[in-house]
Amino acid sequence: MGADTNPAGQFFAAPPMAAPVMPWRPEYGTINDLGETVHVGGDVYVYSSPDYTVDVNTVYAITPDGVVVLDSQLLPRQAEAVLADIRARTDKPIRYVSNSHHHPDHTFGNLVFQEAGAELVSSYFTARMIDGSAFWYLMFLSGMWGEHLPRGYAVPRHTFVRSRELWLGKAAVQLFEFADSTTVSGESVDMTMAWFPQSKVLHVGDTVWPGSHTFFADGTSVPDWFMQLGHIRELVNELRPRVIVPGHGAPGDAGMIDAQEHYLRAVARMVEDHCRGGEVALTDETKAKLRQDICSEFPDHRNHIPLDISLQLLQMLGPVAFLVGRPDGATARRLPSFL
Ligand SMILES: [Zn+2]
Repeated sequence: MGADTNPAGQFFAAPPMAAPVMPWRPEYGTINDLGETVHVGGDVYVYSSPDYTVDVNTVYAITPDGVVVLDSQLLPRQAEAVLADIRARTDKPIRYVSNSHHHPDHTFGNLVFQEAGAELVSSYFTARMIDGSAFWYLMFLSGMWGEHLPRGYAVPRHTFVRSRELWLGKAAVQLFEFADSTTVSGESVDMTMAWFPQSKVLHVGDTVWPGSHTFFADGTSVPDWFMQLGHIRELVNELRPRVIVPGHGAPGDAGMIDAQEHYLRAVARMVEDHCRGGEVALTDETKAKLRQDICSEFPDHRNHIPLDISLQLLQMLGPVAFLVGRPDGATARRLPSFL
């Protein structure tokens, strides 16, 4: 026997990198599924991707001076579908693409829009979070969407802290941070909302997911998220939007805030039941039972992939952060304070 055939050292590939993160289920749909676009009034449209790419919304507004886009989709094929959708309505240039937060379903299409001539815009915090996390998301998600993912990622160079107004002729879009590193967080630690004052459309990012199963395992905790929902109620009372556009799920009204709270309370209770307050790890068996309980409590909710990724992460990493993990110190006033 020689060292050549029995080397002393080796690396050890482990799931999820070496195998699919989780098995495909029929309710997810397929890579060939198409999204759909709705007109929410004024010059504002919302494209929603199919469930196979997590039913994520891209908002775009057409103005006489060009097009502004919020969130860029997960896969290049959906970003291209949005481009084609815009091109079917106008040949005006796409001026800006703004990312509401750093998650890949809102940022991985950035390259497609950048190549189409758009300038990428986000909060400084979100830009740094994209740069710090995109590589890891590409690794993790290659266990699900593989070669359909983009080959790289693009970080916004045009950044702001707190707020920025984008002007297209006489039309303004107000971007404002709702969560940053000093505040309570919800679905993500960073969150920029967008307000279209002329059409009174408010984009609230992933703070609420009406009619959809929610991703709830990104190191955020439900106690934090409940506080954030209170902040959203205040904001909506101040702005009085005509339409609220969530990051996932159908555009609607303030009722989606109560619905989100109801969903999170029910899911948190079920997770606590199955994990005995976070002390017992989820087994394959208890995870399947928990999933069944959540799905039968919300039988009409679509978008099962974010639920299954969340449950997978709870099983792999533990539910403690989800239930009680809010760090001390997130006591800054809610953002924005300028409105
Ligand atoms: Zn999202």
